[in-house]
Amino acid sequence: MTDAKRILYIEDNPQNMRLVRKLLKLNGYETLEAVNGEEGVQIAIGEKPDLILMDINLPDIDGLEATRRIKADPSLTNVPVIALTAAAMRGDRERIISAGCDDYLQKPIDTVQMLETVRRHLARIEALSNLLANTD
Ligand code: MN
Repeated sequence: MTDAKRILYIEDNPQNMRLVRKLLKLNGYETLEAVNGEEGVQIAIGEKPDLILMDINLPDIDGLEATRRIKADPSLTNVPVIALTAAAMRGDRERIISAGCDDYLQKPIDTVQMLETVRRHLARIEALSNLLANTD
């Protein structure tokens, strides 16, 4: 089947990349990968993934800027972006949400929580598109 949901993971840490790639594949998702923000934005625009997992601390533009650029593209506005952040500093949540992220998870990655969050947002988007399709 080719209808597997495609998830773009933007992450510069190889260990996290390996862990999440394995987790997603084991659960039937197709993965797209980028190791910096610029590349992540380009792949998002070119591939139109179903969901994006976004590391915040990246070597070039950070995950907040990458999210702003992705959400500025009308064809990507509804694609859920879930931020991954190591910092648990006051004000982070506000910065992340105001950049356009739909949700956020703290590192180290809790695999159960990550899968649950991914499923919840994919279900939300599916419900939204069904609703839009039925109003014609
Ligand atoms: Mn990082």
